[in-house]
Amino acid sequence: MTDHYRGSSHPVLDLPDDPPSDLLAEMDAIADDLRANPLHVAADDAIAFRQLVNRRRPYLTPAQFQDLFGEWRERYAAKVEAAGAAELARLDALRRRNPPGGPFVCVCGEAGDPSDPAWAAIHQPHVMLTGLDKLVK
Ligand SMILES: [Zn+2]
Repeated sequence: MTDHYRGSSHPVLDLPDDPPSDLLAEMDAIADDLRANPLHVAADDAIAFRQLVNRRRPYLTPAQFQDLFGEWRERYAAKVEAAGAAELARLDALRRRNPPGGPFVCVCGEAGDPSDPAWAAIHQPHVMLTGLDKLVK
């Protein structure tokens, strides 16, 4: 992950000379990085996209820029929505596996108290590494 803010209140991109072949995919990765920073606001996407296009496709007209930015925004919104749906499905599976009042069951099958630091130290890596969605399918 790259910190595109580097002490500034808005993103200042430091792009590699060798661009990835897909501009929109490059912007997806930048947008993911931007969202990891608490300074991110929605307007930063346009700032970052302008910097990216100025570097990769400086010949675009303003209309072409707007079309491309619109295309990227729709595509990224769909990606975020799909990721949110996958996360909800993962949480739902976790909820079904651990009904209210029942013991917490680790993905390895052992029941225990996740608020017990000793138990959590052993089993938290199981949950993180396994990816419950893969087990539930
Ligand atoms: Zn476990």
